[in-house]
Amino acid sequence: MLTRRRCLEASCAALLTSGVVGAQDAFAERRERLAREIERDARATAEYTGRSALAANVMAAIRKVPRHRFVPAQYEAVAYDNRPLPIGEGQTISQPFIVALMTDLAVPKKSDVVLEVGTGSGYQAAVLAECVARVYTIEIVPKLGERAAALLKQLGYSNVETRIGDGYLGWPEAAPFDAVVVTAAPDHVPQPLIDQLRAGGRMVIPVGEQGSGGQDLLVIEKSSDGKTVNRSVLPVRFVPLRRER
Ligand code: SAH
Repeated sequence: MLTRRRCLEASCAALLTSGVVGAQDAFAERRERLAREIERDARATAEYTGRSALAANVMAAIRKVPRHRFVPAQYEAVAYDNRPLPIGEGQTISQPFIVALMTDLAVPKKSDVVLEVGTGSGYQAAVLAECVARVYTIEIVPKLGERAAALLKQLGYSNVETRIGDGYLGWPEAAPFDAVVVTAAPDHVPQPLIDQLRAGGRMVIPVGEQGSGGQDLLVIEKSSDGKTVNRSVLPVRFVPLRRER
């Protein structure tokens, strides 16, 4: 009798464990499928972006970061679809291909210090954190910034610093940055962000008139003499960069 109950308990435990492993496997499988879709998108947009394959460290980050943890629970099942999703407060987590492309265009290196404007869910910050030494990320909506900060901490991203505030002004105390990634769209390139970019650094930023619907994704390179050169990469659609009043 006792033995039979032990067996049953053991099989229950086995079932429970296989359930958990099964769910993780399903996410891992979907993440891999998403990574392949991103690689296809990169090839399809190569004539605009100049990049037919994204860097290995960027794709490794996409294959690792659990996007399903960054979306609201009701979207967990579609977290690895290659599309933006609502994250509350009228904001969205960007399309994974765009996250991968923007990370790639920032050319992140292991020793880099990067600024992100528009933390949102924290997903882009986590992808950057996989590739560089330190990420500083700013969010203007306190509820989103606080939620992202807690999640990044829970997932062990100890190299991400979060702040609530107006990212237009950058993060002067942590400057200069090797790269700046802006994930909300201003109608002009904020001068403080240019000032806080290291000579030789890159900024990736969507810029367009507010209300016009779309923006140009720009890569801005700062040369050693402090001059900047802008290159327009792709038409994109981001939420507007808001200003603190
Ligand atoms: N990078 C995010 C997606 C960003 S959506 C992710 O991976 O999930 C754009 C975010 O920028 C929104 O959360 C919005 O609230 C924020 N935002 C808008 N204006 C801002 C500003 N001036 N400073 C900082 N964040 C801003």
